[in-house]
Amino acid sequence: MTDKSQSYISTPFPRRHSVAVDVGGVTVGGQAPVVVQSMTNTDTADADSTVAQVAALARAGSELVRITVDRDEAAAAVPHIKERLQRIGVDVPLVGDFHYIGHKLLADHPACAEALDKYRINPGNVGFKSKKDKQFSQIIEMAMKHDKPVRIGVNWGSLDQELLTHLMDENHSNGAPLTAQQVMREAICQSGLLSAKRAEELGLGRDKIILSAKVSQVQDLIAVYADLAQRCDYALHLGLTEAGMGTKGIVASSASMGILLQQGIGDTIRISLTPEPGGDRTREVQVSQELLQTMGFRSFIPIVAACPGCGRTTSTVFQELAQDIQNHIRESMPAWREQYPGVEELNVAVMGCIVNGPGESKHADIGISLPGTGETPAAPVFVDGEKTVTLRGPNIANEFKAMVLDYIEKRYGTGASAEHEIS
Ligand code: SF4
Repeated sequence: MTDKSQSYISTPFPRRHSVAVDVGGVTVGGQAPVVVQSMTNTDTADADSTVAQVAALARAGSELVRITVDRDEAAAAVPHIKERLQRIGVDVPLVGDFHYIGHKLLADHPACAEALDKYRINPGNVGFKSKKDKQFSQIIEMAMKHDKPVRIGVNWGSLDQELLTHLMDENHSNGAPLTAQQVMREAICQSGLLSAKRAEELGLGRDKIILSAKVSQVQDLIAVYADLAQRCDYALHLGLTEAGMGTKGIVASSASMGILLQQGIGDTIRISLTPEPGGDRTREVQVSQELLQTMGFRSFIPIVAACPGCGRTTSTVFQELAQDIQNHIRESMPAWREQYPGVEELNVAVMGCIVNGPGESKHADIGISLPGTGETPAAPVFVDGEKTVTLRGPNIANEFKAMVLDYIEKRYGTGASAEHEIS
């Protein structure tokens, strides 16, 4: 007889073993929690805009922030950006993104090399033909000199063409050739692994190397990272490149990374969303956090559960209340992290009618079941699973919001009750 309990395994696989890397005080890999990172889209030479955006990303919860270092003016600005961020109390580690001339920029701007907490290099464009190894070696030597980790970040859009051609040729002469897609996946893996091996030969420690292998298709991403995870123990940075705009980017990134994280693969993530014109760059941080939190890996911000609504509740009261509370929580979180330690574990429920309202609300720390169409205009509130009060009248929303804030103060504030402290 089959053991049915084995047929429905719904817990994540144990985390893959990886070598921990210290990035400016933030640990990536080992058994450290999966780290959220993001990237600016400002011109790094424009220090004002870059400082403002890095600060916004860090305050939204980004634990590492990558900035483009593409020319002398950008490299020269980096130490000033770092200093100004520290002056305003933002000490998020900065990662420098280098392409083509990283070796030169790091050598010509030692203050930049020192101010950055990690260097990201792309083995596909670090140099070509005879210059490739020389320029790669120069970057690795700079990393060793300044005691910085590197991310060897392969990207299929700029894949090492010499390596790909070599593997394609080898594949043709093979009796049972792989498909072009399989060869491409293998080239992506090999590009990262060979570069990491070369970095080690040059003297860079394994605890200074993070690998990434970004592609734009979900199935390719899952296959490439599953393979990399088996072939090395370097810390892995996950990210779907060119994920796209809005829901497309969110869904594709969450689908691919969710599967990998469930398999215990991934030590840091970035969700590369294309912002809408004038859109908020911090959205990518929010999506990364929500992915990790909804999967149960980390907690960042109180969750507001709300029903989708249906024909049983034609008013918009519960939608407005859910949104109002969610917005208030998000805006308050930077201060609440200090003021109310542990508040990120809070669950709030805002439900539209009696069908699922009381049940869902009882499971939340604090929840309200609003009256649906035709129901008695009364809204029971549940606190820690017990019905405590029934709100009535036109001021239900404000009264419930006040109750949530009061609950937070009592449970997570300095005067938190002993009952909640031990629970
Ligand atoms: S809780 Fe009520 S209003 Fe909300 S989706 Fe369910 S039946 Fe509809």
